[in-house]
Amino acid sequence: MINIDMEKLGKKSSAIRELFEQGKLLKEKYGVDKVFDFSIGNPSIPCPKKVNDTLIDLLSIANSKDCNENYNKIDSYKPLNSNQLHGYSSAGGDIDVRNSISEYLNTTYSADTLGELIYLTTGAASALSISLKALTTGKSKDEVIVFAPYFPEYLVFIKNANATTIKVLPDYNTFYPDLNDFENKINENTSVVIINSPNNPTGVLYTENVIKDICKILKDKEKEYKHPIYLISDEPYRELIYVDKKYPFITNYYDNSIITYSFSKSISIPGERIGYILVNQNAENANDIYMAICGAGRSQGYVCAPTLFQQLIPHILGITSDISIYKKNAKLFSDELTKIGYEVIEPDGAFYLFVKALCTDDKEFSKKALEYNLLLVPSESFGIKGYVRIAYCVSETQIINSLPQFKNLYNFYK
Ligand code: PLP
Repeated sequence: MINIDMEKLGKKSSAIRELFEQGKLLKEKYGVDKVFDFSIGNPSIPCPKKVNDTLIDLLSIANSKDCNENYNKIDSYKPLNSNQLHGYSSAGGDIDVRNSISEYLNTTYSADTLGELIYLTTGAASALSISLKALTTGKSKDEVIVFAPYFPEYLVFIKNANATTIKVLPDYNTFYPDLNDFENKINENTSVVIINSPNNPTGVLYTENVIKDICKILKDKEKEYKHPIYLISDEPYRELIYVDKKYPFITNYYDNSIITYSFSKSISIPGERIGYILVNQNAENANDIYMAICGAGRSQGYVCAPTLFQQLIPHILGITSDISIYKKNAKLFSDELTKIGYEVIEPDGAFYLFVKALCTDDKEFSKKALEYNLLLVPSESFGIKGYVRIAYCVSETQIINSLPQFKNLYNFYK
């Protein structure tokens, strides 16, 4: 017998992927330039040149007969021969790579992190899946709080950890979490809270005050229920910020915190699958948490993230793709849609615009938009009603050419 739940999950792709597939059919029918696909968050800006240059250097050193000799010439590289470069690393990743991440974080965010408490992963997706498995008991009573609108895959990972998702509503004026609702939904079964800022799908960045308020509530509730409530900060968009606001680095604000990070978006390499989990060294029993992370990684087969891409990391820390292009897209799109009459949430970062649907049913609105060859993701899949998400990690030309269709769609409703 196969696992029926897994079969169902396999058959039911996410709303985003479903739309992405529909887009492919529309493109075949109408031509690529007539279909405006804003469905998926696939970075459109090339990775920084340093990424490819470093990979070439790593590979040519490994290719040379005497990699030690070459290493001496390019002294920032570790002398890895071909077998080492393509071989297994330690399950949690190469310790030198993990230490380089820790040093970078400590310098950049005045943080106090340890390489020993970093676990390299295949992107943020496996980092989340491992962390949720490690931070819940697996005995079905655990509750995990997510702030709507949220990244839909959280629900899949929470279910896989045999825990229950508890949804907290947003304050619709700011799209920060509704803190009264948050406080009311914490109880003795609350094990984990997930935050994601800059946020997918709203583009909103939580200010330092919002982070402080969330942490204050959590600290009080930890005291009340006498057990840790872990805060997972999911940060694939950490560097994609377009406003002049400080990024509150979560381990500086809350002890029982874990960061899940990905290089997918910051350096445009989502297909290469590299990221990490960081356990705050000030967390209660941080070493035990880290061991649970190792166990959860092992139990799900997530060991030894791709070695070549591990070795890339020390050379590209602090470098991003040219995000000024996303910033320009965000302003252009947001200004033009507002001019037409759409209500747009002002984006602070990431590469998504959250726009009010022109009818109450966002699925119906998304379906209507398809008739205008506009692929917009309905907000129901992010846990709230009445909006659509537009991924603007596309070319400026695509945005400009889509505007008449947005106007036509608007005219249909008005
Ligand atoms: N978390 C959020 C909020 C995301 O938007 C994504 C991807 O879009 C992920 C996690 C997964 O990222 P990765 O590609 O690194 O697995």
